[in-house]
Amino acid sequence: MRGEADRAVAMEAETGALDEAAVHAVLARALLDGRIPAGTKLGEHFLAEIFGVSRERVRKVLHRLGHERLITVEKNRGAFAIAPDLEEARTVYEARRILEGGIVGHLATALDDAGEARLAAHIAAEEAAMAAGDRFTSIRLSAEFHTILADLTGNPLIRRQMQELVARTMMLVAFFEPDTSVACQCAEHRAVFRALGGRSRAQAVRAMTTHLSLVETRLRPRVCEAVPPPLDEVLRDALALWRTRNGPAARPDPARRPSGLAS
Ligand SMILES: [Zn+2]
Repeated sequence: MRGEADRAVAMEAETGALDEAAVHAVLARALLDGRIPAGTKLGEHFLAEIFGVSRERVRKVLHRLGHERLITVEKNRGAFAIAPDLEEARTVYEARRILEGGIVGHLATALDDAGEARLAAHIAAEEAAMAAGDRFTSIRLSAEFHTILADLTGNPLIRRQMQELVARTMMLVAFFEPDTSVACQCAEHRAVFRALGGRSRAQAVRAMTTHLSLVETRLRPRVCEAVPPPLDEVLRDALALWRTRNGPAARPDPARRPSGLAS
């Protein structure tokens, strides 16, 4: 279809031919900000038009978002925004309390100076993102705090388990948690850090399990706008925001590695 192809080319010129990482960043942001209601169909053709990229590029991004559990991809039906349920949240947080209680209990006696410095720098970055009101970065950094702890055990099996659990949690937090309570996490992470600095196994386990329980109890279904704005409007807004942060002429750069959300 010539008209369609011409339109795609025009779009590509207008949008500056976004690469895969850029399309992923815009979509992930809109999803994590809760701007796309659960059940919304994310059609390949529609997204290709909005972003001015090929359907193949869109398909790759949708596959990645599905892997990150930000959307669900159903065979022969397509991709949809999802709404995780509270039952899933309970299972995830119970698993995290068991695993992460063990991780910080271990680190209370095994953490070295380099590990302690790494955690201190990370918490400072979290606090800076929170002070700047950057919810997207705050969620990413608060998730990373937990994967760093797993990393500091030096055990690849634990690292892999945590990455899986954190990826599941990110969507839960973004979907359920009201904006204001993200702020509490920094103080709770500091409490874990203090307990580790004090080399107290019992205090570290208690600080971590308390933190995870508090996050779980803060989960509340988000109050959605009565009439959500049309998807194209949401995505064009998200794209405009991305452009103001990444420059108007972001061109594909094959050397650039896509930045992972929770890896
Ligand atoms: Zn946390």
